[in-house]
Amino acid sequence: MSRHRIVKVKCPKCGNKVSASIWDSVNVDLDPDEKPKVLDGTFFQVTCQDCHFVSNLNYPCLYHDMVNRIMVQYVLNVDEAQECMEMYDDIQRKFDNRLDVYRIRIVLSQRELLEKVRIFDAGYDDVLLIVLAKHI
Ligand SMILES: [Zn+2]
Repeated sequence: MSRHRIVKVKCPKCGNKVSASIWDSVNVDLDPDEKPKVLDGTFFQVTCQDCHFVSNLNYPCLYHDMVNRIMVQYVLNVDEAQECMEMYDDIQRKFDNRLDVYRIRIVLSQRELLEKVRIFDAGYDDVLLIVLAKHI
């Protein structure tokens, strides 16, 4: 399931109120139109309806790909990352390691989120890539 809401944000250029989509979680199997936006970096962007200025919003979001069993949680800081890790540990304990079939990552930047999705989509293992990168 995706969790999505519309909020009003202030355009940094003209100051008008802009309607913006905020996705607490995005399930790209249920909302396939959002995946290309994640891949081209426009997912977190909002365009002012008045002056057409494009700004980038920053908020936590869970990227969920059910088919490929991928969850990438974008958080804003280390404290949120710690809370997420504890939450996933709790879920694992309560539901008998049900998430073992998933590749779960917690990332601290939108760029990292994009990078993880691209690596997984290309059929690679990001952990293996990190190990390789350290040896180059
Ligand atoms: Zn504007």
